[in-house]
Amino acid sequence: MGDNHIPLADLRYAATVPHVPALASAPTGLLSDRRGRPLHDLRISVTDRCNFRCSYCMPKEVFDGSYKFLPQTSLLSFEEITRLARLFVAHGVHKLRLTGGEPLLRKHLEVLIGMLAGLRTPEGEPLDITLTTNGSLLERKAQALKDAGLQRVTVSLDALDDTIFRRMNDVDFPVADVLRGIEAALRAGLAPVKINMVVKRGTNDQEIVPLARHVREHFGPAVVLRFIEYMDVGASNGWRMDEVLPSADVVSRLSAAFPLQPVQAATVGETAERWRYVDGGGEIGVISSVTRAFCSDCNRARLSTEGKLFLCLFASRGHDLRALLRGTRDGRPYTDDEIAAAIGLIWQGREDRYSELRGAMAADPGSGERRVEMHYIGG
Ligand code: SAM
Repeated sequence: MGDNHIPLADLRYAATVPHVPALASAPTGLLSDRRGRPLHDLRISVTDRCNFRCSYCMPKEVFDGSYKFLPQTSLLSFEEITRLARLFVAHGVHKLRLTGGEPLLRKHLEVLIGMLAGLRTPEGEPLDITLTTNGSLLERKAQALKDAGLQRVTVSLDALDDTIFRRMNDVDFPVADVLRGIEAALRAGLAPVKINMVVKRGTNDQEIVPLARHVREHFGPAVVLRFIEYMDVGASNGWRMDEVLPSADVVSRLSAAFPLQPVQAATVGETAERWRYVDGGGEIGVISSVTRAFCSDCNRARLSTEGKLFLCLFASRGHDLRALLRGTRDGRPYTDDEIAAAIGLIWQGREDRYSELRGAMAADPGSGERRVEMHYIGG
């Protein structure tokens, strides 16, 4: 194996087995962390595999034929995911986002969606269930996902130009297939569809206006295009600040073509700053994770494919919830209240704010530990 390979599955990321208190009481739904942040969203990575090799996420040189993805037995089963999701919901989670890797590569994903759609908040409300996908399999699967209970979908699309798109996904995948996936999602009623474009200066920034124009002309307000600043997640994408195009530049380029005005955020913790076209052509969003950190509102937890809980996209360490799901105390399985209590303690101890501190830190955070890769915990 070359130097650029990261270690095998069981050594993948440091994780601690969570502390389970001796006296576990049931969740109250009112958790907050050390910075007063509630727990509202849970992102669930259902696979670490992807059929794309975008250089900013899973570069081919690292994730090649000899890269060892997690074995099937490491993955949480649908029952395990649903059990944990239920406990997170009891703690206040209202929104679930399935991600990966490419979530549509996980077999029978609609069965999991059906199970999650059966969960209810403590107030008896259904959850907001959504999914982030590269769109490659969406045309085939959109209707089944909708029928299973999926409400919305976010599709990643980094260019309208076929040559640039194929170069960015690095597996020669045609843009037309993703566009057909978006149409299928709209037909199935998975609206509003969001499109996420990661902007890399010098790679696809010339696509900002053409993609916006295409969305306005072909889809209209039913599709919201969002521009994401290229982030320093993981340790394998060779991130450089000079390849980040600040969201402010995106907005000024767009408004030169289509005048924009700001829109008030609908909910606290919304990652995207919203803008609307003055002519009524719909909305766009910008996600400024590099130039405008939003840690103070971050209410998201992330569950990795193998059941580790991460409290920040830029974390190096997780909390091994699978060890509790599959482990025992005094010869008996852990109860729901015990696992929920362990989750509660983890959230109450949370104080990270990586993006706010980024500017003050060296390229890698002080601990010297390798940051978790995005395909593993999900975007
Ligand atoms: N495969 C799915 C997809 O393509 O949407 C879900 C997983 S992907 C990791 C989730 C999102 O993270 C995508 O929109 C992707 O573009 C984004 N992403 C990955 N690496 C990124 C980076 N370095 N900076 C910004 N966004 C990134």
